[in-house]
Amino acid sequence: MSLKGKNALVTGGSRGIGRAVCIRLAVMGAHVYINYVSNPEAAEETRQTILAAGGTADVLAFNVADPAQAEGAIKKLIHDAGSLDILVNNAGITRDGLMARMKEEDWDTVLDTNLKGSFICAKAASRAMMKKRWGRIVNISSVIGFAGNAGQVNYASAKAGMQGLTKSMAKEFASRNITVNAVAPGYIVTDMTSTLPEEIQEKIKAEIPLACLGKPEDVAGAVAYLVGDDSTYITGQTIHVNGGMYM
Ligand code: NAP
Repeated sequence: MSLKGKNALVTGGSRGIGRAVCIRLAVMGAHVYINYVSNPEAAEETRQTILAAGGTADVLAFNVADPAQAEGAIKKLIHDAGSLDILVNNAGITRDGLMARMKEEDWDTVLDTNLKGSFICAKAASRAMMKKRWGRIVNISSVIGFAGNAGQVNYASAKAGMQGLTKSMAKEFASRNITVNAVAPGYIVTDMTSTLPEEIQEKIKAEIPLACLGKPEDVAGAVAYLVGDDSTYITGQTIHVNGGMYM
């Protein structure tokens, strides 16, 4: 229970990887704020799973791509709860399409959600962490931010940007005992990847040395390590959770 007494906010905690992270951090003893944007039922399901496991959690609706809304919600959380110790920037979307046909709007939405949303949330959360001289920020980027991918120039750029954000924040915040790291998942079984046609999934599997897609819990394990007691001397780093598909 190394996170007893800590408050953790997980953006996009209602489903997929974010849900697994919420559950894992709650089991470690944190009080978890489950953020979502459009799916209150899924967020409540995450909360109920945490309560059933003996943890504590609240749901918190806001759109990470709306700076005023996100900043306002995090400010209120800090005011009401007294602290925010852990932030996991997990909320993310894809709007795929080949470069030549990609609408500017799809570029903007993906960058605003994945990259700018992470900046806004981290900026708001870091105020409380700096005051307390303790904090853990984990950004969920992607293998695509390292390898690139045809049809995902927007997503790859956003996720690569999150790597620069991670390292720069790590340098700015280190003197305040705030570590900032990233986790870069490969292909993980969630709603985001379930839309991939069967033959594409088989093709992806064939390129993964461990020969299967990952589970949300695989990513949650890496996040747990980065916010727990065993990683206090690690900052500005990325843990790749991808079955070996990118080395
Ligand atoms: P998912 O199953 O599609 O879930 C996305 C989550 O993000 C949901 O909780 C959703 O909330 C939330 N969200 C989306 N837009 C939001 C916004 N504007 N404001 C607040 N919350 C928002 O996705 P996932 O596969 O778990 O992915 C989670 C993260 O891992 C993303 O950053 C993704 O890029 C990254 N990732 C995923 C994979 C993969 O293979 N799945 C691989 C690499 C990286 P609602 O429920 O309210 O819609």
